[in-house]
Amino acid sequence: MTRTSWDPPVRAGSSHDVPAVDHDGDVTEPRAVHTWLTDMDGVLVREEDPIPGAKEFIAALREQGVPFLVLTNNSIFTPRDLRVRLLRSSGIDVPEQSIWTSALATAQFLDDQRPGGSAYVVGETGLTAAVHDIGYVMTDQDPDYVVLGETRTYSFEAITRAIRLINDGARFIATNPDPSGPSTQGMLPATGSVAALISTATGRQPYFIGKPNPLMMRSALNRIDAHSETTVMIGDRMDTDIISGLEAGMRTVLVATGATERHQVQDFPYRPTKVVDSIADVVPYVAQHCLPEDT
Ligand SMILES: [Mg+2]
Repeated sequence: MTRTSWDPPVRAGSSHDVPAVDHDGDVTEPRAVHTWLTDMDGVLVREEDPIPGAKEFIAALREQGVPFLVLTNNSIFTPRDLRVRLLRSSGIDVPEQSIWTSALATAQFLDDQRPGGSAYVVGETGLTAAVHDIGYVMTDQDPDYVVLGETRTYSFEAITRAIRLINDGARFIATNPDPSGPSTQGMLPATGSVAALISTATGRQPYFIGKPNPLMMRSALNRIDAHSETTVMIGDRMDTDIISGLEAGMRTVLVATGATERHQVQDFPYRPTKVVDSIADVVPYVAQHCLPEDT
């Protein structure tokens, strides 16, 4: 079909046979999806259990050769640990290099801001390995930064040391602001709660790197040389995954298998590009390299 200047404009997506046009009548292509970012907990797994469709989603990405990253605010584990945990507990096969943690984002931030610096780190291997690998020296003598992450063995001694170093001028960074996290035995206090303790003692607020800071998304995009306009972020929380995806310029998908339920979406002043029941509903879009918008 040949379009002439007196043809009425065709609505975007109204037919497969005619090109979509924008409101000026110019022909536009539906925006492609070249890259996917996805949250882990509540999207791919619930605690240790796989969410149906997660395995197929990751398999589809790998089959299609589509670049992707699985994101987590949890800074306890290294990508290698997480890969093994996902594979053993859920059968989900995510390559190590496709996992992006708040610990890695924090290390990247330190390197961008002050390469070859020093830090006093309160956290587990996920964080200490990331900070070490980026070329930082770990010290409790006059460090550039105090870096706080998730641990299950917070020591009064380490927290006291962190407080004194911050009072002496060290900059205060925390991997993520989550006040609590889930476990099979019930809720656990998380980095945000311990950061509050240190803030109360020092009168200084940390800079949080993980979600909802869009820096976590931007560093993920940089990691895989992706562009926000052709990337989709999938998450289960409006106030972290969706807002930070949106603020980083990406399209977003909310899955209703985690924190935010479908009926709660309208309570927020922003909305995702698409709301689906679960990750299983996203699988077909991987091969189509596009994302139809909710209207
Ligand atoms: Mg989640």
